[in-house]
Amino acid sequence: MSFTDLGLAEGIVRAVTESGYTTPTPIQAQAIPAVLAGGDLLAGAQTGTGKTAGFTLPILHRLATSGVPHASTTGARSIRALVLTPTRELAAQVEESVRTYGKYLNLNSAVIFGGVGINPQIKMLKHGVDILVATPGRLLDHMQQGTVNLTKVEILVLDEADRMLDMGFIKDIRRVLAVLPKTRQNLLFSATFSNEIKALADGLLDSPAMIEV
Ligand code: AMP
Repeated sequence: MSFTDLGLAEGIVRAVTESGYTTPTPIQAQAIPAVLAGGDLLAGAQTGTGKTAGFTLPILHRLATSGVPHASTTGARSIRALVLTPTRELAAQVEESVRTYGKYLNLNSAVIFGGVGINPQIKMLKHGVDILVATPGRLLDHMQQGTVNLTKVEILVLDEADRMLDMGFIKDIRRVLAVLPKTRQNLLFSATFSNEIKALADGLLDSPAMIEV
């Protein structure tokens, strides 16, 4: 099994190959086809399993192979994929992966998290972003200031959802969910499945594919 066999666009396979990966990890082999199929996904996966590429690769593929023609040349970019993570370190790591695997695609990404100045982030968002990686608190700040537009989000990822709940982000997450378009693809990754996570998944996911590694 190779990344080409999974149906990923040539530019993505090239970037992955240049990263030194030849074989998809078990979570990638399962998550990539599920996400490419367009449905919701509930994935049980720890860090270190390759879960980040498991969702970033098919998201890049979906965004690169669909959407508004010439939007990128007219400057009419909008946030089409939103990834929420519990910590700034994870947010930065995920966005770095998006950048690395998406380097041959015409897609912009950005990362926003708290503890740093908000103005450079506002500038980045104004510049036009296709894929936004964010921690919930700072994203909410941008929503309240009207500096982020989430009305065109097609794909939502909750990464390390259990940690986000442990850190008390459930209210922030619900406020974000409330402003997203109702029709979208939802991916939830979690290492553990408490009743709280199950309740969140029940409300969020529509007949999800379920994978566990
Ligand atoms: P993650 O679980 O997403 O944090 O990834 C764990 C580590 O595995 C990261 O350092 C990745 O660079 C690496 N990795 C991801 N996919 C592969 C792959 N298919 N083959 C080898 N290493 C990988």
